[in-house]
Amino acid sequence: MPELPEVEAALEFLRTRARGRAIARVRLLHPALQRRLSPAQLQALAGARIARVERRGKHQLLHLDDGRVLHAHFRMNGDWALTETNAPLPRFARAAIDLDDDTSLIFVDSRALGTIDLHPAGVALDLGLGPDAADPEWTASQLADELARRRGPVKPALLDQRLVAGLGNIYAAESLWRARISPFAPGNALARERVQSLREAIDAVLRRATGSRYTDDDTVTLDVYDREGLPCRRCRTPIERAVQAGRSTYFCPTCQPREIAAKHGTAKKTAKKTAKKTAKKTAKKTAKKTAKKTAKKGAKKTAKTIAKKPAKRAARSRRA
Ligand SMILES: [Zn+2]
Repeated sequence: MPELPEVEAALEFLRTRARGRAIARVRLLHPALQRRLSPAQLQALAGARIARVERRGKHQLLHLDDGRVLHAHFRMNGDWALTETNAPLPRFARAAIDLDDDTSLIFVDSRALGTIDLHPAGVALDLGLGPDAADPEWTASQLADELARRRGPVKPALLDQRLVAGLGNIYAAESLWRARISPFAPGNALARERVQSLREAIDAVLRRATGSRYTDDDTVTLDVYDREGLPCRRCRTPIERAVQAGRSTYFCPTCQPREIAAKHGTAKKTAKKTAKKTAKKTAKKTAKKTAKKTAKKGAKKTAKTIAKKPAKRAARSRRA
C-alpha cells in the first residue's frame, strides 16, 4: 500500500509534471470512479488550472485555481503515470487527466480501490486526520497522550489515521521493530521513553524510505516487513508473522517480546485493576442473586470462584 513516502513521491511527480498546467479533460475509465463524479462535474473541470498540490497523510489534493480541490487517494496500490494524450492507455488505467500540453496524468490502479473526488471551492476540507507522520512538530509527547488513551495493541493504533496520518502497514511494522516494541503491546502500556523511541523510529524509517516503489524496487531495504522466517537483522532470530486486525504483522520475537508491556508496569497494574473491578462487580451481582436463594455463606464462596476467572482472562489477553 502506498504510504507517506510513496505518496510524497507521487506529489513530487505532480509538482513537476502537472502544477501550473490547465486541465483539458478528465476521463473516468472505471465505474467505481464514474460513480464519484457526475458528468456535469467532469465537464466543469475543463479549463481549470492546477495551482498547487498538497499531501495530507496519504491523501493528494490538487488545488485548482478557482478554489475547487481534486482529491485523489491511492488506497491499496494506485500510482500516477504520464503519457501523451493520444498514446494507448496503460494497463489498469482508471482515470486520465488530460493536460493542456497534450500529456495525460493516468491514475493506474490494479485493484481499482483508489478514489478521486471533487470538492467545491470555499469548503474547509476535514479529512479526519491526525498530525502528519512527517511533521517535525509532531512530538513524542503528543503521540504518548494519544496512545495512553488506547487499550488496544499499538500496531493497529498506528494505522489509525486519526492518531497519525501517513503510516500504513509496512512503515508501522518497520517503526515498531526499530523501536523494539511489540506490535501487540497495548498502547496505554508504553512508558513515555518507549514512545519517545517510537517517535524517533518513525522519523528514521520515513527518512530512510526513498519513496521509490518498494513493490518493484529493491532500493528500500525493509528490516522486518515481509521477512517471515528470515533472520532478524539485529539478532538473527527468525522473523515471525501474525495476523492482527486483519493485516499481516511482522516482528522479531526476541527484539520485540510481547512481555515488554508487562515489564513496563502500567499494563500489569491496569489489567490487575480491571480484573479486580470486574471481579468485584460480577461477584456483587452474583452474590446478590445467590443471596436471595441461599445463605450468605454460599454467596461468599461463589464470589470467590468468580473473582478468579476475570483475572485469568486478563492474564491471557496480556500474553495474546
Ligand atoms: Zn531481533
